[in-house]
Amino acid sequence: MPLALYPAVVIHKCYVIEPTEAEAVKLIFTMYISGHGYGSIARALAAKGFKTREGRNSGKNSLYDILGNEKYTGTYTFNKTNRKENRPRNMHVDSPADDFIRIEDAIPAIISKSDFKIAQEIKQHNKKKAGSYKAKAHYLLSGKIFCGHCGSTMTGHRTTSHKKEYIYYNCNRHERIVTDKCPQSRLSRDAVEKLILEKIEKEIFSPIAKENISRFLSKEYENFVKTVSEKTSILEQEKATAERKLNNLYELVENGEADEFIISRINKLKTEIKIIQNKIHNNSSKDMHIITQKELLDILNNLHEDVYSNKDVDAQQILINLFVDKVVVDNKKISLQLTTERILDMAGAEGRTRTGT
Ligand SMILES: [Zn+2]
Repeated sequence: MPLALYPAVVIHKCYVIEPTEAEAVKLIFTMYISGHGYGSIARALAAKGFKTREGRNSGKNSLYDILGNEKYTGTYTFNKTNRKENRPRNMHVDSPADDFIRIEDAIPAIISKSDFKIAQEIKQHNKKKAGSYKAKAHYLLSGKIFCGHCGSTMTGHRTTSHKKEYIYYNCNRHERIVTDKCPQSRLSRDAVEKLILEKIEKEIFSPIAKENISRFLSKEYENFVKTVSEKTSILEQEKATAERKLNNLYELVENGEADEFIISRINKLKTEIKIIQNKIHNNSSKDMHIITQKELLDILNNLHEDVYSNKDVDAQQILINLFVDKVVVDNKKISLQLTTERILDMAGAEGRTRTGT
């Protein structure tokens, strides 16, 4: 089955903060910290004419995402975009551990780290208040596991029978449609997740694969840093040109040749220079450091340990989000498709589909 593949690591190529975006984000955090709910924040934003990127008024989901986005404190993360695309719309993961790689003070900040922390505490508090959170079972493969008979998604369920709890994935059609039932049978959550994690360990965490993946990621980050500094040098050039023009006009003033037109031109140039200076300041890359392959290898090793030795659920979810494209269940046959051809090719794997029973 051909599938659209996307890179496991999607990187925002450039982090230049638009003045209006910064203003909206500041307003969102300020209101949230002082106790306003999503509804009243959304109304305040609409009243000021702020829209989301898609042109809609800000909904609860986008506010939730903004309030949890560390990018606004200047922290650069890999995996944010990837995670968003892979998750069902209303599913949120709050743990900072959900970021595969994070680098503090890498990009311009609009929110202080302490304000961000307070916002996270409020979010956490509200979530606990809303209940149901703690009791929910965690399904690592949510949104990625499909029925091979009818193509429906398979979703997580939990039942108790004879005092024994049974947690499983089942075909949605099987669960919901009584007539013309799909022949798919229930699949133990623990068994299938264990199988998938074992497959990933073989593919991703072999010494050669780790070596290749860390080299690839380090290259990607280097390109990102380069893009930012190229942008800065273009701005510097623009500034120098504007300053040269301004000096020429000043000479005219000194020689007594200035008229109203020259004066207005001077003021215009001064504003222009100020704007460029602001942009340079926002785009500052002086604090960015190159993340080495060795550092990335350490991150991979830590992830490896967290997933397989410590059995950390957050780490397992990161791993699934990063590398699993799709799991298809056909009776007792489970096929796993990992996300990137690119990473897998570099990791020395022959193909994308691995089949297990
Ligand atoms: Zn089915």
